[in-house]
Amino acid sequence: MTHNNKMEGTFVLPLLLCVIFVTGFQAAAVSDYDDYSDEKITLPACDETNCQLPNCSCFGDFPKNVHRPQFVMLTFDDAITVANIETYNKILNGRRINATFFVCHEYNDYTLTNELYRQGHEIAIHTVSHESNTDLWRDGSEQKWKREAVDMRTLLNTFGGIPMQELVGFRAPFLQTGGNTTFKVLKKEAFLYDSSMPSRAYMDPPIWPYTLDFGYSQDCQIEPCPNENFPGLWEVPMIQYHRNSKDGDFYCSMLDACTPQPKTALDTKEFLMKNFKRHYDSNRAPFPVFLHEAWLRDKHRLEGFLQFFDTILTMEGVQAVTLRQVVEYMRHRVFPVRTPIQPCPKKEVCSYKEPLRIMKTCTTGCPKYYPWVGTPLGRRPPRDFPQ
Ligand SMILES: [Zn+2]
Repeated sequence: MTHNNKMEGTFVLPLLLCVIFVTGFQAAAVSDYDDYSDEKITLPACDETNCQLPNCSCFGDFPKNVHRPQFVMLTFDDAITVANIETYNKILNGRRINATFFVCHEYNDYTLTNELYRQGHEIAIHTVSHESNTDLWRDGSEQKWKREAVDMRTLLNTFGGIPMQELVGFRAPFLQTGGNTTFKVLKKEAFLYDSSMPSRAYMDPPIWPYTLDFGYSQDCQIEPCPNENFPGLWEVPMIQYHRNSKDGDFYCSMLDACTPQPKTALDTKEFLMKNFKRHYDSNRAPFPVFLHEAWLRDKHRLEGFLQFFDTILTMEGVQAVTLRQVVEYMRHRVFPVRTPIQPCPKKEVCSYKEPLRIMKTCTTGCPKYYPWVGTPLGRRPPRDFPQ
């Protein structure tokens, strides 16, 4: 079985292609993708007889309706703080944008998280600890992944008032999953989607989200990638960005990882627009705008970023929505009804000495200990706290 790295029509056989390229590195020659073959692998073909919406969608498939929307998915990773909320407000206030925030616990302000949810944005899971040693994620046990994902849900629900049933999205720290281990946990814990998996082989044309009923079907950019099936669990691929300069072609999974970094408003806008057009002018696969807030601290870059949004939001069919909205649109052709919540009854600043931390919460009263992996309600002293 040999594969071409381009999608053929609207349907592609599930593909097991594992070629590692660390995200953000210079592109390898296209031919590196072309010579894959493995005669022994036989996979059942995913088609409309064995895979039907709302719970199954084949890799390479997409909505066939005439007025297919061009979704734009703006996401920010990591803690929501008084420092980055200013940038978020500059982007989100007065624009028709629903964004997704992949949140981790350290330094997260749960009162601001509550406000962002109430404004229509999605809050999703990015683990409790976000610890920086990626080996620990790659080799993490099922128990570890479960605690990190489920405890973060508990934290957002308890201290931010976010309804449990709204916390359905996941992104791994540093995009480092543990392969099957991570996806097993997401499936068992009733997550709706993961969005941790970059794709360079399926940028042009780009792919729409799909379910893992017939397995992970993209190229494997960061090992290990899952090779088991996870029915009903959606993958929202991180379609990579292309950045070219006089030094060559570069690819990255998050905007802020692409080099050379744009420095002017015009360069920023053009970089985004060029990548956006690859989606808009082809099959209109949802366009990711995945980044960290720090990239927009530069005022020229922020200006170009806002010009990009102000331009595309006037274009036919363009809607900036959350990842959950994209997935639910694919499942049911309508957006989900969100569970409304109340503002924080009280904003509490809880301070701790070991570790030295403060935590801003929506609750009355503070937990006895700093909440952590394994003790999200702060009933026991935190263990394995990174020094
Ligand atoms: Zn992160």
